[in-house]
Amino acid sequence: TYSKSGPADVEELGRSSWTLLHTIAAKYPNKPSDTQKQEMKQFMTIFSHVYPCGWCAKDFELFIKENAPKVDSKDDLGRWICAAHNEVNEKLGKEKFNCDLWKKRWVDGWD
Ligand code: FAD
Repeated sequence: TYSKSGPADVEELGRSSWTLLHTIAAKYPNKPSDTQKQEMKQFMTIFSHVYPCGWCAKDFELFIKENAPKVDSKDDLGRWICAAHNEVNEKLGKEKFNCDLWKKRWVDGWD
């Protein structure tokens, strides 16, 4: 899938970025410290500012403004990122993902 050089297109960038974001949640503590919570909120805000697809970044920024990042536990963060991803799925006419299954997909695996 990485057959061509040069800038990643919006699809490749998106797949890679969702992998990063869901994996960050998968590795996030069940009981994060205040510093970890603070840093995760800042990370999401900064991510929405630097994401290298302008219209994607704008929509993610808006999502964050309307839905403050939930950073109190691994499950809270995983479900929040799942909801953010579903918002984009919906916008693109893709199937919505059942967020009860986020850990099965990104922590335990099903194959
Ligand atoms: P992806 O949507 O990349 O998903 C990869 C895998 O994640 C799926 O195969 C599935 O196993 C799993 N998955 C799917 N949904 C969820 C979920 N809700 N929770 C957990 N796991 C899930 N593209 C645009 O064209 N326009 C945009 O405005 C746009 N905005 C984006 C904003 C952000 C912040 C990001 C990270 C990406 C954005 N994208 C946008 C890219 C788009 O979301 C997809 O990544 C891209 O279209 C490739 O889709 P895909 O079908 O390969 O699967």
